[in-house]
Amino acid sequence: MQSGNKKLKRNKSLPAKGANKIFGRLLKAHLSEKELFENRYIPEPNSGCWLWLLTGPNGYGYFRYKKTQRFAHRASWEIHNGKIPDGKLICHKCDVRSCVNPNHLFLGTHLDNNRDMMIKKRHKILKKEKKINSEIAFKIYNEKGFHKNIAEKYNVSRSLVSQIKRGEIWQDATKNKF
Ligand SMILES: [Zn+2]
Repeated sequence: MQSGNKKLKRNKSLPAKGANKIFGRLLKAHLSEKELFENRYIPEPNSGCWLWLLTGPNGYGYFRYKKTQRFAHRASWEIHNGKIPDGKLICHKCDVRSCVNPNHLFLGTHLDNNRDMMIKKRHKILKKEKKINSEIAFKIYNEKGFHKNIAEKYNVSRSLVSQIKRGEIWQDATKNKF
């Protein structure tokens, strides 16, 4: 607080606009993380997700606090539950990375996170589906022989071949003849 006051005095000669700016910055510096946290998300009425407004390229919400960058979902968990134990992750039950609703967050390990992803298999399927196109899916579907060999031929996983063969994914591509 004291250094703050000094700073204000030193800038006394500045025009009002500049002084306001500095005062604003000082105010901001004294806000708690919780105060900074509020009003930076929009509650989504259907899912109950609290959508953070500022997100990075990985989809997670973030903000700057005391010169450090913080993940919004991690900050939310800490504000509502206390400090995150070392080595623990904050995972999303709702799969919405920008969500900061503490009720949608849970404490997990990297293993939990992976397990969680496995349970929600669609992550994997989506990723794999992206690797190929409908033409390749059609070819795989009509390929004869062991799934292992087909997988090698098209450089995809064996489970992808199985899923296509069983008609679990790429149904549109495999039903239509080119
Ligand atoms: Zn959510």
